[in-house]
Parts: sequence; structure tokens; C-alpha cells
Amino acid sequence: MIIVMKSDASKEEISKILKEVKKLGFNLNLSKGKEKTIVGLIGNGRAVSPGHFRPFSGVEDVLRISKPFKLASREFKPEKSVIQVNGVSVGGEKIPIMAGPCAVENREQILETALKVKKAGATILRGGAFKPRSSPYSFQGLKEKGLEMLAEAKEKTGLSIVTEVMAPEHVPLVGEVADILQIGTRNMQNYALLEAVGKYKKPVLLKRGMMATLEEFLMAAEYILANGNSKIILCERGIRTFETYTRNTLDLSAVPLLNQLSHLPVCVDPSHATGSRSLITPLSKAAIAAGVDALIVEVHPHPEKALSDGAQSLNLEDFSKFMEELRPVAEAVKRRI
Ligand code: PEP
Ligand code: MN
Repeated sequence: MIIVMKSDASKEEISKILKEVKKLGFNLNLSKGKEKTIVGLIGNGRAVSPGHFRPFSGVEDVLRISKPFKLASREFKPEKSVIQVNGVSVGGEKIPIMAGPCAVENREQILETALKVKKAGATILRGGAFKPRSSPYSFQGLKEKGLEMLAEAKEKTGLSIVTEVMAPEHVPLVGEVADILQIGTRNMQNYALLEAVGKYKKPVLLKRGMMATLEEFLMAAEYILANGNSKIILCERGIRTFETYTRNTLDLSAVPLLNQLSHLPVCVDPSHATGSRSLITPLSKAAIAAGVDALIVEVHPHPEKALSDGAQSLNLEDFSKFMEELRPVAEAVKRRI
């Protein structure tokens, strides 16, 4: 249930409601929008009907939320959330592009990539230091050393960093360098990790589980929200289907659907969704037309030599062309790159 306060509700009226919610045994979530303050009731308090709160002064409306995801829903927060990442807004008119290699491999590779993607217009640098690989024999990432290289790239370019965190105990370590903590597809339902990034409160890029429904995806986001962190970017990165010509199948319908169901910004990862660099540009254009708020793309100075995911990485020159091709599409739907 949510309690919508009148736009002119006083501090005292709001605090009376908060006291009552707590008295009834609920946890609460307070959302202060531009116009209104919304109080969300969380957990299992005493059975109470919306009518209980209506007589309180300062209350405009009381609504039951029909979806199992509450704080993530549009019912809870009708206006789109805009996430601030070091001066980059995600969820506004401008569509930030996150670009960089699948994995940080060495200092030269990440510094060269950072400088060039920035020049082409990217605002966030991606690069895995802790890599979740399907095989234990594949390159697992440079770990702490990789984080140090990302920190240097950030210092030299001013780009913000998105990088994956795989374990709850690594959250403070990765969070020292990351401006956005990435939860990978394989960890979308790692509830201990979701709780940890929820409590840590830095922005999170939550990737859709490769076999997760949109409801399961939004319930994963709900874990982070319920732990106090509302800075979440949802990322569609392809789901498993019977198709073999692509690595996964990009579920483009997820973009408008997530926008209808949730206020959280939506990102698309055309690299992991397809496994193929030739599909990155067309699917990014389609994602922009469908209403995406950000893109994350793999870029490598020498994709043929990449230690992971070279086939789905653009080289530096092609990344510049990619950016140029996206601009008119963004303008056509009143967005900017
Ligand atoms: C990645 O972005 O580095 C990655 C491993 O992606 P995913 O979790 O979507 O496979
Ligand atoms: Mn990758």
C-alpha cells in the first residue's frame, strides 16, 4: 500500500503518518518527488485498509499496489526516475553510452579504450575486473589490479566507471572504484549480493537473468530497493531461446514493457544480447526507437586479440561510426546521444 501526501503537506503531517505506519508494524519507504511525498508500507504489519489512513490530515490518496514488485512499480512512482552518476544523468533526455572492453586486460588496453571512447562521445567506461566466466579455465579477470587500472582510466579521462561485482564481500572493494556496480546476468537472483548493493547505496546496473521473466527481473530490483537503494538501472542483455545464430535473443519488447511497469531507467546491452558485432548498431538503433535510457557496448582496441568476447566487441574506429549513426535516430525520438 502507498500513501500519497498532498503537495502542501507539512513536515508534521508527514511525520504523524510515518509514526502510524511504524506503530502498525510496517517498514517504510519514503519517496520525495518533485511534486509529492509518497510513503510506501513494506513488510507484514497489522492488517489495515486504505481507509485507515484517509482521515489523517495531509493525505491525498491511499492506494493498494497490485503488482508483486511495489517500490519498482509505476504505481508507486508515476514519474520516471533519473539516476545521477557523477554528473551523468540516466533516465533523462540524453542517452548515456557505456563503452569499453569485456575485461580489463592491461593498462595500455584500458587507457587507450577510455581515451578513444570518450572522444567519440561515451560518458561511462565499462570493463570487468572480476569476470564471471562459464568455464573455470577461462580468463577470470585481473581482479584488484584491474580495479587499479580502471581507477587510473577514470582519473585520466574523467569517465565514470561501471564494473561487475560478483560477491557481497567484494562490494566495498569494487565500490571504491565503481560509480555504477554491475550485477551480471548470472547473479540476478543472488539475493545476498542484491541485499549488499542495496545497503551500499551506489548506483547499480542490474542485468536481466538470461532465463528470467520480467517479473523475476523486477523482483530482483525490488530486493535492492527494499534494502534502501533506489539508484537502479535495469539492463536487458538477451535471454536464452532456441535460436543459435545469436548468442542470446534480445528481448526488445522488454524496453517499452519495463517502461510501462517501472519508473526505473532501462539500458540495453546489444553485445551480450547477440554475441555478434555486426548486430550492435542495428539493435542499438532499435533500442533507442523503443525508448531505452542507456546503452552498454563492448569495445576493444583489437577485438581479434581480446581475452573474452572479441566477436561481440567493436573496434575503436567502428565505435566512432556507431556513435554517429545513433545520433539521428535519437533525434527522431526527441532524445540525444
Ligand atoms: C558483462 O557485461 O561483462 C557480462 C558478463 O555480462 P552478462 O552478465 O550480461 O553476461
Ligand atoms: Mn563480455
